[in-house]
Amino acid sequence: MNKEIATEIEEFFSQKGHNIPISEIESRLDKLINEFKVPTEEARRSVVNYFLKEYNIPKGDFFVQQGETPTVKVSDITSDGKWINISAKVAQLWDNNHESIDQAGLIGDETGTIKFVKWAKAELPSLVEGKSYLFKNVVTDNYQERFNIKFNRTSLIEEIQEDIEIGTLSVEFSGAMVGIQLGSGLIKRCPECNRALIKGVCGEHGKVEGTYDLRIKAVVDDGMSAQDALINREISEQLTGITLDEAKQMATEALDQEVVLEKFKDMLIGKYYLVKGPKLDRNILVEDISPLPPLELDQIDTIINQMEV
Ligand SMILES: [Zn+2]
Repeated sequence: MNKEIATEIEEFFSQKGHNIPISEIESRLDKLINEFKVPTEEARRSVVNYFLKEYNIPKGDFFVQQGETPTVKVSDITSDGKWINISAKVAQLWDNNHESIDQAGLIGDETGTIKFVKWAKAELPSLVEGKSYLFKNVVTDNYQERFNIKFNRTSLIEEIQEDIEIGTLSVEFSGAMVGIQLGSGLIKRCPECNRALIKGVCGEHGKVEGTYDLRIKAVVDDGMSAQDALINREISEQLTGITLDEAKQMATEALDQEVVLEKFKDMLIGKYYLVKGPKLDRNILVEDISPLPPLELDQIDTIINQMEV
């Protein structure tokens, strides 16, 4: 029994780069248990604490690892401050300029994607986009009402052979289209990286000869919250009845690309829609959008009448 505990303690500290002779651990345990009649669990804790202090290791590092860490899916993450294990694929790595952050981006499993942050201090292996990993002992967090996962010094990362398929849980959102953001309408994209150009300039490749595209970055509001919805060319064409070619024609005639955006705003803002599609980061990638009838005047009368009763 003491031997088992001693081995467990020895292994933990050896992972942290400290080789403690197992006999030393055992003799400390023996002394506490046999000489001082300390309960086994208490003795274990006491010996662990002794060595944690000796090597300046935070207590959480050992005791958190000993707890039952549940293995969860992305869609199970609904609260912060929970220690979890999760298998996921790296969907995106983001550019990051923070010295304290080693890597950040999105990981996902069949239930969806979630943001992660890997602290530089954690000294964990570098993640590769498109590879799948088992992330052990990572902690959930909440930032600006969105959940994310933090990888810290007590986390472990193992690459796995399984190629996890990232699922996209389709969501629905209905409300009024209250805004269409800049960068909507007729836009140009970089032929090399497909990024939308800003005044003919790609953030990565500088001034390039762009190719035209059509899109709508809509904001839909249901009265409780606002949701960003990204509408691609095909669905923008269906929604507005204006094709990419017609949009180019409009821009040529007006000598101004912005006329398309203005036209879209006139057509869509203030109307009610039901949007459906997978949610990636903060956007719904719209696969389907259908108009909803606004409340008719007689419906409003009915509601008011009911309220008076
Ligand atoms: Zn580019």
